[in-house]
Amino acid sequence: MPDDPASTTGFPDPAQTDDARRVPVLLPVPLATPLDYAVPAGMAAPAPGAFVVVPLGPRRIVGVVWDGDSGAPPPGRVKPLIEILPTPPMRPELRRFVERVAAYTLAASGAVLRMTMRVVEALWPEAPRLACAITEAGRAALADLPRRLTPARARVLDALHDGAAPMAEIARRAGCGSGVVRGLVELGWVAETKVPARLRDIAAPDWNAPGPALSPDQAAAARKLVAAIESGGFGVTVLDGVTGSGKTETYFAAIAAALAAGRQVLVLLPEIALSAQWLDRFRRRFGAAPAEWHSDVSQTQRRDTWRAVSDGRARLVVGARSALFLPFPELGLIVVDEEHDASYKQDDGVCYQARDMAVLRASLAQIPIVLVSATPSLETMVNVGRGRYRRVALPRRHAAAMLPKVVLIDMRQQHCGPGHFLSPPLVDALAETLEAGEQSLLFLNRRGYAPLTLCRACGHRFQCPNCTAWLVEHRLTRRLLCHHCGYAAPVPAFCPECLAAGTLAPCGPGVERLQEEVAARFPGARTALMVSDLLPGPRAAGELAAAMAAHRFDVLIGTQIVAKGHHFPMLTLVGVVDADLGLSGGDLRAAERTYQLLHQVGGRAGRAERAGRVLIQTYMPEQPVMQALAGGDRDRFFAAEAAARREAGLPPFGRLAALIVSAGDAEAADFAARALGRAAPQLPGVEIFGPAPAPLSVLRGRHRRRLLVKAAREVNLQAVVRNWLARVKLAGAVRLQVDIDPYSFL
Ligand code: ADP
Ligand code: ZN
Repeated sequence: MPDDPASTTGFPDPAQTDDARRVPVLLPVPLATPLDYAVPAGMAAPAPGAFVVVPLGPRRIVGVVWDGDSGAPPPGRVKPLIEILPTPPMRPELRRFVERVAAYTLAASGAVLRMTMRVVEALWPEAPRLACAITEAGRAALADLPRRLTPARARVLDALHDGAAPMAEIARRAGCGSGVVRGLVELGWVAETKVPARLRDIAAPDWNAPGPALSPDQAAAARKLVAAIESGGFGVTVLDGVTGSGKTETYFAAIAAALAAGRQVLVLLPEIALSAQWLDRFRRRFGAAPAEWHSDVSQTQRRDTWRAVSDGRARLVVGARSALFLPFPELGLIVVDEEHDASYKQDDGVCYQARDMAVLRASLAQIPIVLVSATPSLETMVNVGRGRYRRVALPRRHAAAMLPKVVLIDMRQQHCGPGHFLSPPLVDALAETLEAGEQSLLFLNRRGYAPLTLCRACGHRFQCPNCTAWLVEHRLTRRLLCHHCGYAAPVPAFCPECLAAGTLAPCGPGVERLQEEVAARFPGARTALMVSDLLPGPRAAGELAAAMAAHRFDVLIGTQIVAKGHHFPMLTLVGVVDADLGLSGGDLRAAERTYQLLHQVGGRAGRAERAGRVLIQTYMPEQPVMQALAGGDRDRFFAAEAAARREAGLPPFGRLAALIVSAGDAEAADFAARALGRAAPQLPGVEIFGPAPAPLSVLRGRHRRRLLVKAAREVNLQAVVRNWLARVKLAGAVRLQVDIDPYSFL
């Protein structure tokens, strides 16, 4: 039986397994339920949570022993477990979390499990290292023949008196090459042996370290957060404070309290680019670096961090949404900073909203969670209104800082000149700010030089070969780039359509083009671009932010990564170049997001002694978003937005699910989408829209069709979708992505 791994690779003989002893094992593959495996004779049955190695087809794979008597019958016959790993078992709380996330998102449990074990190597103990130790013969040589030893050899043997160490380390201590040590090994005076690896010590944050004296507002807010930690149990607190009110200092007090109580803490941040500044601040306050968890962290570091979280050496982790799936044994507090941020929503693979799942994890762990924002999401505010979340407010800026004055510039009345994008009032404000020796920030949420390139001679537009999207010219890297799939091509010297040379024209502004305009108007100004694609990682972003804070630049030009968290004391002017950009498109959260983003960018101005102002260029000054920004009337805007959503039955007052069907060719996608459409349920309180081509109808070479389910709040949306999908059989080449509570409508 060549396809039976047990017979070919020396696994335990199935004939000797006791089939009566079976355990369900959940595997990190897209399967909805655990599979049954047999416990071989002589192996103690592993308890639920144990990490085990099992055969799956021709592979060996690590899974987790699940709860219950048995799982699904495996394909073929029940195969035996291969090995139980010596790592601490997955705790019940994390197992329940996996199940609940899967049930909520309609993802396969195995796909969610995979997110908890991204670094499989971490499940094995660290490989032992080789260390050199002096032997009896070596000691004798040192005592008997000291004069017949070369000085280098004598120094090596001396160094080994202090204990065993790796060869390189001994050579360093003795001040010689490692060849000398190897020579002694050959003589038998030194022996190399395997010693267990020592786990890296991680400096614990000092929760006793004094922080700054809190203002009365901050102190009152901090007292409430600390009380929640001391009384324990699940509870959601919304820390709602204007930009610059000192929210971070305030929740640091809660972190200190959780650490003091011997608990671990998880802080989620939306943007990796932010973590460098946050880490610095944390280090200054608590005297030790927290563990980091995000895509920019190396695989080795991740392995170490996973282990350190699991065995409790790491007391605080700061990370992106995936940090939510780490195996904390003693989690005592979760903080979600910038909780309104859309990047908490993952919309491929397992589609989940990390903020909401953080609340779920806190409730399963029975611990407090703090959601932090200057512009909380409508979902969160509605939960405050319903009495589910408690709100703690910081209504004023820290110390003497005032909130900036916001002015709308009606672009219908302005002439910027051809190929220019800064209106005269904004140019004047820039000039005044430069004159005063202060700093400015220009915000435009468009990477690259121009969002569209076309040929002036024939009208040819450059489109991505894999997506329904224009290619964006990036002049600094001399490429045309697709912002959806990453396709890149060099900027051609002539038009590929009509072959005319020198006719390619950029249309519209990107940040690179804006920098050119600023440099042309203010040749003496020192400008810098802050854009994710020009910054290789959080360190680089942190260095650029530090340089800006140190006033090495006069004008910072950036996309949304400038909006969050930064504190630049000399920054007094914020110019929003195209405020209307986020308002187009069919996104139900467009107005809310535009408000949050622009409010946040504006919040960078005037954070210290000098007063700030915000100039917003818009073609729609009468739009409620713009009026709310100018009038500083957040609550009225959110009330109006909530009323509109309630009226339309949209989240958080109704429920949505998106079904995205994709296939390599358009016919297959259409066929599958129509089959889904025909099988759509007809139920009270449930409406189905589509199928329709997705706005990005081709993405990464796949043709996409969308269906949208809209349901009343009391409908069990997951059950409706699950039953629906169970009735439809899709061809193997068709992919179906279910997105409960979608944020992206592309
Ligand atoms: P937010 O997170 O609300 O935008 P921050 O926590 O970043 O505000 O605080 C804004 C600025 O005020 C920061 O430079 C911070 O160091 C400073 N700050 C806040 N609270 C205090 C305090 N109690 N004492 C001294 N400085 C503070
Ligand atoms: Zn593309």
